[in-house]
Amino acid sequence: MECREAERLVMPYIQDQLSGQELEDFLEHVEGCPGCLRRYII
Ligand SMILES: [Zn+2]
Repeated sequence: MECREAERLVMPYIQDQLSGQELEDFLEHVEGCPGCLRRYII
């Protein structure tokens, strides 16, 4: 997943609307991407 795609999934993530696979991919990217980690995980 690219940062752009992760960015698109942030809102549904916050609203708990991600499907299992999307959630898995999103978390996997964010945990491995310092830029996204800092931007999204509060
Ligand atoms: Zn990223």
